[in-house]
Amino acid sequence: MIRLKILLLEDVVNKKLITSIYNQIVLAVSGAGTDTDSILKSISRLQNAIQFKELNKMFSNKKTGYGSFDEIINGEYEVDNYYDAAKLSNKLRIIGVNSTFDFEEQLFLGNFKSDPKIAPGETRVNQDIKRTIGLNPTTVAAWKAGLSEAVKFWKNWLNDPITKQKSKNNWSKYGDDLMTDDVWNEYLNALTNIKLIFYDSSMNFVGATAAEHDAIAFVNPSTPEYIHCNCTEIVIRDINKYEILVHEIQHILYNIKPINPEKQIKNAFVKPGTKIETDSNIKATFKTSPNDKVFKNMSSKSIKLNVPIDTLVIWYNIASAHDKNDPGYVCRETEKMSNIMSIRSMFKLRPGQNITHQMLKPYINLQKKNDNISWLLYCWALNGFNDINILLNKVNQLAVNQNSNNNLNIT
Ligand SMILES: [Zn+2]
Repeated sequence: MIRLKILLLEDVVNKKLITSIYNQIVLAVSGAGTDTDSILKSISRLQNAIQFKELNKMFSNKKTGYGSFDEIINGEYEVDNYYDAAKLSNKLRIIGVNSTFDFEEQLFLGNFKSDPKIAPGETRVNQDIKRTIGLNPTTVAAWKAGLSEAVKFWKNWLNDPITKQKSKNNWSKYGDDLMTDDVWNEYLNALTNIKLIFYDSSMNFVGATAAEHDAIAFVNPSTPEYIHCNCTEIVIRDINKYEILVHEIQHILYNIKPINPEKQIKNAFVKPGTKIETDSNIKATFKTSPNDKVFKNMSSKSIKLNVPIDTLVIWYNIASAHDKNDPGYVCRETEKMSNIMSIRSMFKLRPGQNITHQMLKPYINLQKKNDNISWLLYCWALNGFNDINILLNKVNQLAVNQNSNNNLNIT
């Protein structure tokens, strides 16, 4: 499964990785003498200048006896560590951190200073720009064609009075403040300013932004009008670019202000009082006897949904694996809104028309595949497979007119 994700700073700053790097440095400077090879290795694990900045913050706990990375180098490196310092400087430059130190001949004289603000290194940026020119023109053209279609979809969606009215109602009912015309104008304005930025798996950076290799496309709040599009053939082969761009545009709008209040989106997936299956419960499903309570619970859901029990288990297991890999992503509100809008665009639904159980059936039963539908269903699975019609009814309420009479399409 290829992840579609929004690149937030918290994603760039992989906390686990940085903590592990920090611990490696603590170990390298502990005891007698300093393991300069280990320090070099630890720095080689950093992927970008933002991570280096985060790493530097960790020194405030003084576990190393130093307050920053630079202090360590200046305090621990001796005159004969010139080559070690030079190698370190080189590694840092690759991730966009410039550094200087005093030296004479091949002697390290201290005054090591790193500057992650200059990110990424100029050479890198230039190389990446050159690479952009080398991207497959057919792929680039397909992304561009998808964009004009996706922008058209969103313009129609936002200009439909049903959408605006529903959003205003939802905000006044469930939100902390109101949806205003100004925000709506900002949405429409954002649509006219969207630019596509192309990258592929050979690039670590796209301009100053780290290239997200396991994304099909992503947006980054620091460059709000850019959609970064992956052009790596193996990743985007068979991908419908239009649907992906509808998904990414939702993130851009969401970052201005969610069209629907977050808690209303969350509420669509979690029915208060519903017993959520635990991982071990579901895994135990096959091991327990048909009289077991857990088995009965799952099998009653299976009968109700008319989906084989092993299919439900597959959905749950994949969802659970994704949730462990990136906690919070599976049910993140902005992701669910992007999934929903992308699904609507795929079924060519207009405001006032609904996503129905019938439409999703072949996907639930694993006869058809679509990334956005899968991600929507993972959240459904993680929340204990609530009644799909109730879920869809709530999802439909997020942007359609409630007087539509097919919003409880039980099939
Ligand atoms: Zn997304």
